[in-house]
Amino acid sequence: MLNTLSQRLSRVIKTMRGQARLTEENTKEMLREVRIALLEADVALPVVRELIARIKAKAMNEEVIGNLNPGQALVGIVQKELTNIIGGSLSEKEKELNLATQPPAIILLAGLQGAGKTTSAGKLARYLVADRKKKVLTVSTDVYRPAAADQLKVITEQAGADNFPMDASLKPLAIARDALAHAKRYFYDVLIVDTAGRLSIDEAMMNEVAELHDDLKPSETMFVADAMLGQTAVQAAQAFNERLSLTGVILTKLDGDSRGGAALSVAYTTGKPIKFVGVSEKIDGLEPFNPEGMASRILG
Ligand code: GDP
Repeated sequence: MLNTLSQRLSRVIKTMRGQARLTEENTKEMLREVRIALLEADVALPVVRELIARIKAKAMNEEVIGNLNPGQALVGIVQKELTNIIGGSLSEKEKELNLATQPPAIILLAGLQGAGKTTSAGKLARYLVADRKKKVLTVSTDVYRPAAADQLKVITEQAGADNFPMDASLKPLAIARDALAHAKRYFYDVLIVDTAGRLSIDEAMMNEVAELHDDLKPSETMFVADAMLGQTAVQAAQAFNERLSLTGVILTKLDGDSRGGAALSVAYTTGKPIKFVGVSEKIDGLEPFNPEGMASRILG
């Protein structure tokens, strides 16, 4: 069993009892524990470095040194910096789904196979229909896996939205264009476009999704990342972000036992807001992202 960040910090605080204030020396010790705990929580190394630098800068100033309860003060700083890095300082507008366009607003979902794209497409449709009272059309462009298109059709129905049937003999772009024409003709508010995923990032896949992105000019291009994948999710997010200029991230499978390190790494590496998190396999298992809650989870 790994030690959580909180456990590590409280252990150092305990050994500091009797020392009235935090010195440079014991701050260093604390930071070492923070570093180990973050690495154990599967936070990517560059992110850990940046975070430690930020915490150190804050900890070395008056806020902690000289504070009557330096341990508590340091924990506060760690929590605050974690929250900031995963989007705590973003405005509400930046965190929200951007649908402000001439309808239909297009949401393009991209990511590796198995990340939860199709499930998230269904969940997003449900959220938009039930909570935002939108008229929603979904379409799959995964011509390689007709089963994925069937799966999307089923969950779209559960969501109370409509699905545009995929003609697998056409190219993904042609399918998406047909769906868009349909969405315009029948006054849909939102078109959700699900794309094919591969087991690893490859050029053909990137070209295909980039072509969809460039042609459709979506309001939202979201990378769907599996929180359980850790570093692999981070590398994939980075690769997609370079080609697609993502507008946000959906982090799935947070109901698993991952400690949320991926959230930190993906948000930091892409610089894009995590907009939603997947918390179950069910159609209503999608929640708006809460940076404070995630920081607490990483602290453990
Ligand atoms: P895709 O290949 O990216 O379209 O992935 P799918 O949407 O088919 O999802 C792959 C698997 O992950 C399925 O078994 C989903 O039920 C599951 N899944 C997706 N999102 C979540 C989530 O937030 N929590 C859990 N527990 N499972 C999820």
